[in-house]
Formats: sequence, structure tokens, C-alpha cells
Amino acid sequence: MNVVRFGVAVLLLHIFVALSAVAQAGKQNADLIITGGTVVTMNAARSLYEDGAVAVRGDNIVAVGPRSEIESKYQATQTIDARNSLVLPGFINGHTHVPMTLFRGLHDDVTLSDWLHKYIFPAEAKNVNEQFVRWGTRLAAAEQIRSGITTFADMYYFEDAIAEETKAAGMRAVLGETLLDFPAPDNKNEAEMLAYTERFLKKWQGDPLIHAAAAPHSIYTCSQKTLQDAASLARKYHAPILIHTAEMKKEWDDSLKEHGMSPVQYMDKIGLLGPDVVSAHCIYVDQADRVTLAQRHVGCVHNPSSNMMLASGIAPVPETRAAGVAVGLGTDGPAGSNNDLDLMEEMDLAAKLAKIAKMDPLALNAPAVVAMATIDGAKALHMENEIGSLEPGKKADLVVINLNEPNAVPMYDVYAQLAYALKSSDIETVIIGGRLVMEHKKLLTVDEQAAIEKAREYRKSIAASLGLP
Ligand SMILES: [Zn+2]
Repeated sequence: MNVVRFGVAVLLLHIFVALSAVAQAGKQNADLIITGGTVVTMNAARSLYEDGAVAVRGDNIVAVGPRSEIESKYQATQTIDARNSLVLPGFINGHTHVPMTLFRGLHDDVTLSDWLHKYIFPAEAKNVNEQFVRWGTRLAAAEQIRSGITTFADMYYFEDAIAEETKAAGMRAVLGETLLDFPAPDNKNEAEMLAYTERFLKKWQGDPLIHAAAAPHSIYTCSQKTLQDAASLARKYHAPILIHTAEMKKEWDDSLKEHGMSPVQYMDKIGLLGPDVVSAHCIYVDQADRVTLAQRHVGCVHNPSSNMMLASGIAPVPETRAAGVAVGLGTDGPAGSNNDLDLMEEMDLAAKLAKIAKMDPLALNAPAVVAMATIDGAKALHMENEIGSLEPGKKADLVVINLNEPNAVPMYDVYAQLAYALKSSDIETVIIGGRLVMEHKKLLTVDEQAAIEKAREYRKSIAASLGLP
């Protein structure tokens, strides 16, 4: 009996020792903890943690919550002190053309048609090659990281080179190789465009940062065949389809004339629309179009700077959101239609443009535009399972925004501060997939100075190619 009791006691002692060892060393390992800031999760409940923390392991978020809770459960090799800062999901630039940074300011204050035909198409024909897009992408990566953008969707040429530069900069992106019905700087006909796009889609399958896509330019530059060929190629590889949609009045008028229906109805009729499509602009859409976009689970991207600068029109963002369509935000541009890559500016403008359009200050509010820059932008790109909010299991893409600035205090409402008061220059630190890409405003993955100097060189050769001073 005593022997049995002794045995049980020894066993209990062993269990006790084992358990306390677990409790002592019991903290789980993380690679990085961002701690002490106001964590704006953008999860479904819109949870906010005033003295919060985010634990990161590998390229994933493993925990988000109050600082005391996270620090009691996790120990990390690296810690970022985020006191007096906001910590939020990285911004998502849902529509741009990054190499065009090198054409920034080439010619502004002209009509879209003049800008395209007199300046941009000739400038592209004479200057755009693989080296050009590499330097333009590096410059854009520096600018986008500085403004807190961690994911962007791009439509341009030589997209494979853009993918290599984007990956080197540690950024996440949906990159769409452009297909259209006239010779492009990289491919001269549809067969070449399809072959290039197929190689591109194959090469990047399964990459953690790069989502290769097909980008039939628009219904006004692509025949029905080009649109359908591009879409079926993308679908063969489960790749996204990026396209400009209903972006100008002429597109609407021509579509009614040629197809007897709106641009969105035409796209639907030819089988283009689906849950893999990202439609930039969606300005000329009526209620029937909005219902179609929602039913087909198409994502839309609103570009307020571009729409205002080109006087394209005002996208009915509140109505499109109300119809159940995911609407993100984009910079478009950066040449001739913005001219910068600053998504915080787009948040501010999206809200104010909707207000003045309706003469109603309630038309689109701060929480809505912050969502458009983060979780709704992720939904518009069909990436909401991966990015857009700070939640365990999602990619560790986040920004730390400094609140120790005159324009940052006092703060009564986090969302209003983000939309209307804070600037991208307040962004201090940026993390993409668990990797620090900017720390205390110092870029860690892009040689910013080299890109700036190269842009000045390109300014000379581009101007010379067009006979400009
Ligand atoms: Zn565009």
C-alpha cells in the first residue's frame, strides 16, 4: 500500500516538475513582437487594442491582443516598441502602373486623349524596355513603402521584370501583364502577348509574394476575342484578371452604340466577369451593373485622384458598396493621373469626393475609407484570406504610424485621424510578410538613392526622345 502511495506521489511530483518547466519556458516562440501601440485590427468586429501587441512567426501573424496577454504568452527574438503609435494592416493599392513613375509630370493638365496620343504612347514606344520598368518599379517600391503600401495591383508591360523587382523589394503584389489590340513595348501581337503571359503565370505559381495575373487593358482597347483569350488563359492557371472598367463616358457611349448595352453588361455577356476579376474605376455603372458586379463577385477599385485629375467622372462608391461589391482604393498613375503613390491621400480624397458629389457629409465616412484602404481592398483583390486585417493566420503585413507629430494630436477617433489628419510622412516602420522593409523611415530593401538618381537620368533621355527641353 505504502509502496503504491509512494509511487503515486513520485508520479505526481514528476508531473508537477514537468508542468512548471512548461510554464517557465512555456512562452511560445515568435520572431517579432510589435508592442505597446494602438492596434487597429480591421477584423470583422473592428477590434482596437489601445495598449496592444502583434506577435509574428515566419511570415504570419500568430497573435493579436492586449500587450500584457501577448507578452505573457510569447517571447520574440526581435521587439518593436510601438508606444505612441498606431499599428495597422498595410495599405493596399488596388490599381496602378508602377513603372510610369519615370513619366511623372511629363505632361499634365491636358485631356486624357491628348495625354495618351501626344505624350504617353510616343514616350512609351521610344523609352519603355526591361531596364526602364526595373528602375521605375524600384522607384515606385521606395515611394509605396514610404506611404505604407504593402500590396499593390499593377497593369503594365514586361511584368515579369516588375515581378522580380517587386520580390527583391520584399513587396506583395498582384501583377497583370497587359494584353491589347495594338503593339506594346514588350509584345507586338496577341499571340506574343498570350505566350508571354502564359510563361509569366507559370513561373510565379505558388510564390509567397507575387500573384501573377493577366490584364486585358479594357473593352475599348481589346476585341472580344482578346478579352476572352486573356480570361481563359488566366482561368487555366487560377490567376486573377485585372481590367479597366467603365472608366470614361466615351466607353459607356461606345458600348451602348456597338453592343447595345453598358460596359459591365457587355463584359458579363462575353463571360468575362467572375470572382477572379478586379475592375479598376467602375465610374459609369448603373444600378443593374452594380447588381451584376455583386452577383459575379467582381472586386472594384476606386481611384479618386485619377478620376478628378482626368475629369473622368465621379464613381458612385456609396451605391456600389451598398450593392454588396467590395470596393478598394487605388492611386492609378503615377504619371498624368495623380501623380504620386500615396494611399493615405486617396483615403482622404475618397471620403471628401463622395461628400461633395452628394452635398452630404455623411456620404462616405472615415471608417469606410480606412476599410477601403485595408480589408475591403483585400476583398477587391480576392485576397481577404491572406491580407487586409491583423488576425492570427494572416500574413504579417503591417505599418507603424507615429503619433508624436503636431498633426497627430489630440486623437479622439482613430479612423478620422487616419482618414483626415495623418499623412504618409508619419509612417515610421513597415513590415511585409514578417520582414522589416522600412524601420524608422529607413528603407531596408530598396536602394532609394540609386533609384532617385536614375530617375533624374531618365528625365533627360525621355525629354530628348520627345524633343522636349
Ligand atoms: Zn489605370
